[in-house]
Amino acid sequence: MKQASKVFGYTRLMVAAMALGPCEAALEIVIPYAKERIQFGSSLSEKQGYTHKLVVPHAVRLQAATAYMDEIALRLDSGESDLHTEGSISKLFATEAANKAADDAIQALGGYGYISEFEVEKIKRDVKITCIYEGTSEIQQSIISTFRWKITRKTKGGFYKAICQEMEKLDSDVNDAGCRFYGLAAEVLNNTIMLVHDNRLTRKQHVMFSLADMMTHVEIGASLARKAVSLSKAGDSEAEKVKAMSRIFADEVAQLVSRNALNILMGSGVFDQKAARDFMETNSYNQLVCSSLNVINDMDLVADILFAR
Ligand SMILES: Cc1cc2nc3c(=O)[nH]c(=O)nc-3n(C[C@H](O)[C@H](O)[C@H](O)COP(=O)(O)OP(=O)(O)OC[C@H]3O[C@@H](n4cnc5c(N)ncnc54)[C@H](O)[C@@H]3O)c2cc1C
Repeated sequence: MKQASKVFGYTRLMVAAMALGPCEAALEIVIPYAKERIQFGSSLSEKQGYTHKLVVPHAVRLQAATAYMDEIALRLDSGESDLHTEGSISKLFATEAANKAADDAIQALGGYGYISEFEVEKIKRDVKITCIYEGTSEIQQSIISTFRWKITRKTKGGFYKAICQEMEKLDSDVNDAGCRFYGLAAEVLNNTIMLVHDNRLTRKQHVMFSLADMMTHVEIGASLARKAVSLSKAGDSEAEKVKAMSRIFADEVAQLVSRNALNILMGSGVFDQKAARDFMETNSYNQLVCSSLNVINDMDLVADILFAR
């Protein structure tokens, strides 16, 4: 087990990368198909109900996963060890995102998706195994929640506080990359971990898995924010696209963090309604739920770029 733990930082990153490749391939099949397929008088690529459900969220998550995995790969290449939690975060997020993307690629091609000619059903079969081997998604959730809970306690909240402060700083540099919401999400996450610890809820696996999803999304989101800000400062031609993707993902992170915090507060049976209300009335929680501002327009913008409309 000790031997295995030493290599999980990079072997799990490798499996995460193995999931992203097919996910990218699936999008490369879906996008041209949607531009050509005419239904009800216009191409599928013109329909928000199609693009914003079956394509844009997956392109955004692919971008987010890539940003995080690039950072971890660089840290590994520079000789850092003990990145097994980061390996778990990479694998959990990338493989689950790719699995959903592959599933929706079948849906996006309709009947053609289900037969073998268009290859998306093969991609789905190839991707599913990445959620299982090298440690299942549930084992990754267990690792992430345990180790991030421990580091949060050890640093007295400093671990996620640092992400929160970094996001506030990035937001003051570039204010349209969604950084503010990643910072707020990190703060709500930090408060939730403390609450879970103080009330001995770490024994409940459902609560810990909810925390793992919050931790994963906040950390992946912070990487995407860094990438968006860095491209924006460099005047890169990809900057507008990646900033819009970062704003969309910030909304996803904010919604997941607020929903999971609420689920723990209201669902665990430990807190009375006043305690739950007090928590939700903290400024950060109330601000967090405002993350959806203009998100549909941002999805339009990303769809315009992806489908070259
Ligand atoms: C194609 C393929 C290739 C493989 N290659 C290799 C290889 O090269 N080397 C190798 O060592 N292994 C390999 N494996 C094995 C693979 O790593 C295991 O199948 C995988 O880790 C899951 O273990 P399991 O099958 O025993 O499922 P189980 O552990 O029985 O899991 C069944 C379900 O229960 C969940 N579960 C299990 N424990 C918990 C828990 N504590 N809390 C909550 N939920 C839990 C799991 O997440 C899963 O959803 C391979 C498997 C396949 C299918």
